[in-house]
Amino acid sequence: MTLVPLPAFADNYIWMLQDGRNAIVVDPGDAQPVFDALERGNLQLAAILVTHHHADHTGGVAALHEATGAPVFGPARERIPEPYARLAHGDHAEVLGLRFEVIDVPGHTAGHIAYFLPADPRNAAAGDLVPLIFCGDTLFSGGCGRLFEGTPAQMLASLDALAALPGNTRVCCTHEYTLANLRFARAVEPGNADLAQYMMQCEALRARGEPTLPSQLSTERLINPFLRSREATVSRAVHAHAGLSAQAAETEVFAALRQWKNDFR
Ligand code: ZN
Ligand code: FE
Repeated sequence: MTLVPLPAFADNYIWMLQDGRNAIVVDPGDAQPVFDALERGNLQLAAILVTHHHADHTGGVAALHEATGAPVFGPARERIPEPYARLAHGDHAEVLGLRFEVIDVPGHTAGHIAYFLPADPRNAAAGDLVPLIFCGDTLFSGGCGRLFEGTPAQMLASLDALAALPGNTRVCCTHEYTLANLRFARAVEPGNADLAQYMMQCEALRARGEPTLPSQLSTERLINPFLRSREATVSRAVHAHAGLSAQAAETEVFAALRQWKNDFR
């Protein structure tokens, strides 16, 4: 199988997993890039996976479903174009001989889910692409989604759940926000050598017009401030920036870090 990010809009990626005959797409905010890729590869659409209800992730769902009949999987606690199979934590989506585990990751939206494909004999068809996660707008490379509907505590718990996945997990995020995120990460942790090195790699990729994604979870743990809010370097920087008291709870530190990013230019 191969894994390809199809660019959409200004900075979205619609992830496509395909085996040469059939394809799965994730978060098709626009149908056209998917129709084009299906035609180019002479592929049939086997399933549409959706992580959350935002239009830039669901705008192409109805047209793709109508044209191909491909089943749609989506979050049980959100409304996306009907019909779709409603999934929540612990459920599985079985498509093309693959078994996706559903993880609840509220925070960006209230019912946001992620699809994890573990390295398991049952997923042998995916070859060396596993483990991988389609995490929507929850985790970005170097950053995380904005808190539109959830609380900081929910987002922190969701990111903790993602951070606990195997280090070699390919992180398939839905936006190319990496360089902007890394500029912020550098302001938070100017002394982080892994971050400096990763930033150079990503700048080189973007200079060649290539995606910085998928990222690797082990890298995110080293460079992403939102997975590192309990690290002394990050926590100290947030305390100083936001003027938090020494007793601030970890949720307050995380909330202040997210607010710092919202205000960062
Ligand atoms: Zn979103
Ligand atoms: Fe989005």
